[in-house]
Amino acid sequence: MANKKHVVVGAGPAGLRAIETIRDYESDSSITLIGDEPAYSRMVIPYYLAGDIEERAVYTGDQDYFTNLNVNTKLGSRVTSIDAKAKSVTLDDGSTVEYDDLLIATGSSATRPPIPGADLPGVQNMWSVGDARAFLSRAKPNSEVAIIGAGFIGLIILDGLHGGHHKITFVELEDNILPRMIASGGAKVVESWMGRHGVETITGTSVTRIEASNGRLSLSLASGKSLQVDSVVVATGIKPNMDFAAGAGIKTGDGILVNNQMETNVAGIFAAGDVAEGPILNSQARAVHAIQPTAFEHGRVAGANMAGQKVTYAGSLGFNVIDAVGLQVASFGDWQNDADTTNVSSDITSIYRRLSWKGDAIVGAIMIGRATDIGALNDVGMVKGFIQAGTALGKWKDYINKNPLDLRKPYVACKVAEGLLKTTLTGKPAVSGGRRYRFPPIQPVTQKTPWHQVLVSEAPEKT
Ligand SMILES: Cc1cc2nc3c(=O)[nH]c(=O)nc-3n(C[C@H](O)[C@H](O)[C@H](O)COP(=O)(O)OP(=O)(O)OC[C@H]3O[C@@H](n4cnc5c(N)ncnc54)[C@H](O)[C@@H]3O)c2cc1C
Repeated sequence: MANKKHVVVGAGPAGLRAIETIRDYESDSSITLIGDEPAYSRMVIPYYLAGDIEERAVYTGDQDYFTNLNVNTKLGSRVTSIDAKAKSVTLDDGSTVEYDDLLIATGSSATRPPIPGADLPGVQNMWSVGDARAFLSRAKPNSEVAIIGAGFIGLIILDGLHGGHHKITFVELEDNILPRMIASGGAKVVESWMGRHGVETITGTSVTRIEASNGRLSLSLASGKSLQVDSVVVATGIKPNMDFAAGAGIKTGDGILVNNQMETNVAGIFAAGDVAEGPILNSQARAVHAIQPTAFEHGRVAGANMAGQKVTYAGSLGFNVIDAVGLQVASFGDWQNDADTTNVSSDITSIYRRLSWKGDAIVGAIMIGRATDIGALNDVGMVKGFIQAGTALGKWKDYINKNPLDLRKPYVACKVAEGLLKTTLTGKPAVSGGRRYRFPPIQPVTQKTPWHQVLVSEAPEKT
């Protein structure tokens, strides 16, 4: 179709990657981007919170970038409804925009549980750049902060706040931290490490009330105890931004349901990123993998199909990686599968590894190790490769069971890297389309951190 009208809703990583991919194939089509926020990366927020970068470094696409890609932008506008018959979207100012095809890349929003006092000043989410700016403008240096919820986002925020020298206490409802990311054995290793690095965790209890008291906040816990802090960050969960799609007949589950072309049940309407419940790699199931790599992959596949290519997505690999004040914590794929596992763990050296097997293939893993352990960091990449490539390890399974810390030989012997190199999402290498931080050159804000000292001063372990 000549001069096709593409409309993309949401200026996050999924929306921008889709636009760049459309332009890989088409130079003359019309692209309109509608977003209620400017284009930026949430992933960078912890560095901003820690004071490592300035706010302007958080933004990804500036006007030059959109002009280069020939994109008509409507930033600061919100889509309120979709008319799938008329093929148009309505914005919050009442205007409408017509489309030939539409991409919903609206991400998700942080939720706030109905705790009395959760609306008090000083209690907030940490989901957007606005949330981070609000915290930094209010919080005093070295303040005390409670984070409600010790899941993936809670610990990602810890990284930023600890870097900003705040004293953190987690309150977690489940018996372990990171309950949806790692097994309880691994959680104990992380909790113990965090405790040794000044981060307190209170697990197995909930916050029942928050009250203002003498310029501070007092949290009452179900256990009967209480906690006094300067600020509270709520990190108890997220929900996909898909309410506006309800009237258009688009099927939803945990997110907007899409097929392997990233298309919804309504022809010509696609969804990508945190809002989409999409295919999982090596599985028939679908899931919301609310992580940036999945948002990028979704955007690329959706963009290619919107540009008339016939691209089929193999599915996303669920994986989460965090840096818990110097301890690297990662989980991949079907890490919950504990029927056949290879295990290594030591609370003394803060190592925990669990490989989950299906036959002779690794289908999931939990990898915990110190940021200073280069071998462990290499192994994280290799384990991801084994799972992604679905490698049948044959006799190397037995080798790994006997030598769980030597993954390199099986990785090379089974030609995993060779297998991975053959696969690109669209069959075409990706180029960035000029996406970059908005005001280069950005200078790093230099701060003294303890990590360099750790790297240079620790004696090698005795063998
Ligand atoms: C603090 C923080 C740290 C993170 N760190 C990591 C990390 O280290 N690794 C990782 O993999 N992931 C991380 N994530 C998650 C990652 O940022 C998300 O998976 C990613 O942003 C999803 O991209 P997206 O494009 O789908 O959605 P988003 O980035 O959320 O973008 C969607 C955009 O659409 C807008 N929008 C919503 N509704 C409408 C509407 N009706 N009309 C117009 N616009 C709308 C939203 O406001 C938003 O601007 C982090 C998230 C946070 C909050």
